[in-house]
Amino acid sequence: MALVQCPVCNKRISSKAGKCPHCNSANDDNGSSLRIGHLKRSQRLMNQSFLAMTLFIAGVVVMFWGGEEPEGMRLNAGAVLLTLGFVGYLITRVQIVLHKRKSV
Ligand SMILES: [Zn+2]
Repeated sequence: MALVQCPVCNKRISSKAGKCPHCNSANDDNGSSLRIGHLKRSQRLMNQSFLAMTLFIAGVVVMFWGGEEPEGMRLNAGAVLLTLGFVGYLITRVQIVLHKRKSV
């Protein structure tokens, strides 16, 4: 008996269990629903990193568009976007690495 991760609630369940005891979602025997859950999570992480990149680029645009020194609201908005994008991207990269390691 092997322990696998429930694709819905991410708790550890037996691969032989017909459904997850925690959230009652179906878990078919050959584990294909778990693989689909894994793929969905990969897709979500890719979307997340894309979103973070977009925020970062938006921050760069707000800060440096037009070549004048940013000040006041523009500086604040740009700094927030840059920071969110950068931190979000780093976190997503770490999640992707951990996720890939888990799938082997
Ligand atoms: Zn579950």
